[in-house]
Amino acid sequence: MPSTPVLAGSIALSSAGYCLIYLGLHRVLYGRLARAIWLLPTVLPCVPLAACGLGMSAQVLARLEAMLAILLWGVMFVQVLRCRERMSRFVLVVLITATLLLSANAAFSLTTMLCCSDAAGAPVGVWNKLTYLVMEVAMLATMSGLCAIHTERQFERLACAANTDALTGLHNRRHFNEGGQDALRGSLGNRQRLWMLMIDIDHFKAINDRFGHAEGDRILQQVSRRLSESLRSSDIIARYGGEEFGILLPDTDAVSARHIADRLLAQVASLRAGPLADHPVTISIGAALCSDGEIDLDRFVQRADRALYQAKSNGRNCVVGLT
Ligand code: GH3
Ligand code: MG
Ligand code: MG
Repeated sequence: MPSTPVLAGSIALSSAGYCLIYLGLHRVLYGRLARAIWLLPTVLPCVPLAACGLGMSAQVLARLEAMLAILLWGVMFVQVLRCRERMSRFVLVVLITATLLLSANAAFSLTTMLCCSDAAGAPVGVWNKLTYLVMEVAMLATMSGLCAIHTERQFERLACAANTDALTGLHNRRHFNEGGQDALRGSLGNRQRLWMLMIDIDHFKAINDRFGHAEGDRILQQVSRRLSESLRSSDIIARYGGEEFGILLPDTDAVSARHIADRLLAQVASLRAGPLADHPVTISIGAALCSDGEIDLDRFVQRADRALYQAKSNGRNCVVGLT
């Protein structure tokens, strides 16, 4: 067994390492950490050093390390189990196996030390080597698991940013096109129940000109909220362009589509723009039903767009394409 100060130093370093891995897991799973928690990997390593200063034997220190390892890996195991929904199955299996192995390994070391009759009280021979081998492999697996979760998160964030409109929080045109193609494929054989609504805010330029761009942005956000709140979770809504929105209503009959369009008109018409909240806000809606021959989204969008222009010509604040 190494001398007591060397052992105390190595325990101080390994406990700092365990803490950092634990905090890494916490950070990856829960986001930012409180600043004070960063004191943990600084303070904890002082314990074995202080114990060494107080004259504790190497044997006691080695047991202290094993207990600390059981505690930290055990807590990590529970933490991983609690957050199992936030990681892929593969990463979950790796992390559960690794943390379980690490805590079992530390428990085994402690038991061996307690039961061992030799003077040093440390695991001996082949067990010693096996214990360290398991520890190295499991530590590596844990850190790889953390990196994998972090990478998965970054991909999720990128995918979300690529499909979201920053101003309104709605999906953007790119998502609408992808969702639309999926809806077209999914509705094969049931084409007579997929509706598209193209929506455009009426005289929106006048709102910008009269009250400024910031008020225009606020109205865009309000309209987006009213529209999305009036839809079902199965419907797809996106900001299609500047003040235009696209909506797909899957598995919907003509009566329901009319009902939904009327609700959207009414929801937006109750909004007011300007500092005195006296400027009316309305939308026009063009509706189109998916036809059996429709194979790409563009033609479907064009038909809804034509209905929208007709709604504008008919005096705005109305829907065209639905009887
Ligand atoms: P219509 O009833 O015929 O649709 O008239 P309109 O004024 O709504 O249409 P027009 O195409 O003339 O004007 C649309 C305006 O929308 C012009 C553009 O500056 C504004 N716009 C587009 N995107 C944004 C945005 O993100 N924020 C703000 N504030 N305005 C925007
Ligand atoms: Mg407009
Ligand atoms: Mg427009």
